[in-house]
Amino acid sequence: MHIRSAEFIQSATRPGNYPPEQGPEIAFAGRSNVGKSSLINNLVGRRKLVRTSRTPGRTQLLNFFRINDQFCMVDLPGYGFAKVPPEVKKAWGPMVHTYLAQRASLRGVVWLLDCRRVPNDEDLQLLDWLEELQIPTIPVITKIDKVKRSQRLKQLKPILATTGLPADAFSSFSALSGEGREDVWERIVEALGL
Ligand code: GDP
Repeated sequence: MHIRSAEFIQSATRPGNYPPEQGPEIAFAGRSNVGKSSLINNLVGRRKLVRTSRTPGRTQLLNFFRINDQFCMVDLPGYGFAKVPPEVKKAWGPMVHTYLAQRASLRGVVWLLDCRRVPNDEDLQLLDWLEELQIPTIPVITKIDKVKRSQRLKQLKPILATTGLPADAFSSFSALSGEGREDVWERIVEALGL
């Protein structure tokens, strides 16, 4: 994918302030610190399109980006950060579920899991919603550079066991080496129908 332009459009919490639907949309979801900002920035080749959060969980909004005047990327708020106030935590579920259920232009969700963490209740909640709402899902294992190639299958076992997904459902990605970038792009382009 050749990126000619990538611009931030706006942030939103509810449908009333989503930007108008313009072309297909792909969203990115995962727990705080999973490497979501790094993945998006790497995909679009802009180091700072999405601010990588030094304080995990700081971005508690839906952030809309327009790419090549052709499609949108939506950075969904990260979940699972312990220091987020309870009222913010409570808002996350309805905010994300409403977006997933109501956004007609949504074509798929890139769902990120850290290679070194066992998926927790919030991860699985999100997977349930994606399945219930029949939203095409692109599961991506992040930070794969942290695991030696020979250890990878073993490392993925708890993720496969908790999600019930087969190994070939996952793409592996590293923002450090760029490994997996083409694979993730291919799946996004297919989901967007480009
Ligand atoms: P977000 O909270 O999900 O947006 O996560 P960030 O993209 O801000 O990344 C969280 C932390 O993980 C940062 O310190 C990143 O430098 C680091 N990180 C992100 N992606 C990778 C990766 O592929 N490999 C390694 N080794 N570190 C990563």
